[in-house]
Amino acid sequence: MKTSTLSFAGAAMAALCLIGCSSDQQQTNLAPKHNGDPLETAYPRQSGTVQSGTYRGQPITYRAINGKAVYQGDIILSTSDLSDADHATEGTGRTLKSLRWTGKIVYYTIDPTLPYQDRVTAAIAHWEANTAIRFVQRTTQYSYVTFKPGGGCSSYVGRLGGQQFITLGDWCTTGNTIHEIGHTVGLYHEHSRADRDNSVTILTQNIQPGYESDFQTYVQQNKDGFDQPGGFDFNSVMMYHSWSFSVNGQPTITKKDGSTFTGQRDALSPLDIATVQAMYP
Ligand SMILES: [Zn+2]
Repeated sequence: MKTSTLSFAGAAMAALCLIGCSSDQQQTNLAPKHNGDPLETAYPRQSGTVQSGTYRGQPITYRAINGKAVYQGDIILSTSDLSDADHATEGTGRTLKSLRWTGKIVYYTIDPTLPYQDRVTAAIAHWEANTAIRFVQRTTQYSYVTFKPGGGCSSYVGRLGGQQFITLGDWCTTGNTIHEIGHTVGLYHEHSRADRDNSVTILTQNIQPGYESDFQTYVQQNKDGFDQPGGFDFNSVMMYHSWSFSVNGQPTITKKDGSTFTGQRDALSPLDIATVQAMYP
């Protein structure tokens, strides 16, 4: 780790780097973390308050932290996601397609105060090398994503319309950035697949109270979605690790044989790429 990283981020961030990663390492496989943090969290070490709300017609719990509705650790729900007005139009289907980026182009800006901007350029280069999505610096376009600094890694799922954000804490790596861009183009977490119960066991007794709904499938959440053919992908860059949101150090997700797994944050997997291709033909 560069000393400049430490001096910039301070002791608290150095502690976070022990469990996460450093931007200059651009780590390969992260060691499994038994403290219960998933690989991406919007507000590390901030639990906020557990709130109940309606998301796409389904009651869910989420965390209210710093005025944001945080779901599944690193997904920020927009106010319209949680409003009754949105629910009222739910029948017309705010389909996933409506949340896709027109012309496969993601317009973006980078907040000039964001440290280690090479994380963003490297993640964008990875996406462009492996998918049809293109990233163009925003000039006057209405819808765009801004990469901005913050305490953790987070994103909205899909294109909201207007400005939206990918937040990157200093400890978020290129791999974490690839993951967050995945949310921005419309990918859910892999364990949200409708057919996931064929491949994983959710150990509810080990989940931190209030986080149970983070382990629901998109069907259970009443979201529109699809399962890419090819089966459950433990190698997905959108996959949690086995100890995500653990309350007691025991796994919250295992394979059907009870074995544990780590989430990789090296690259989009072949199935990730196929999923994006299906969404953006
Ligand atoms: Zn995520």
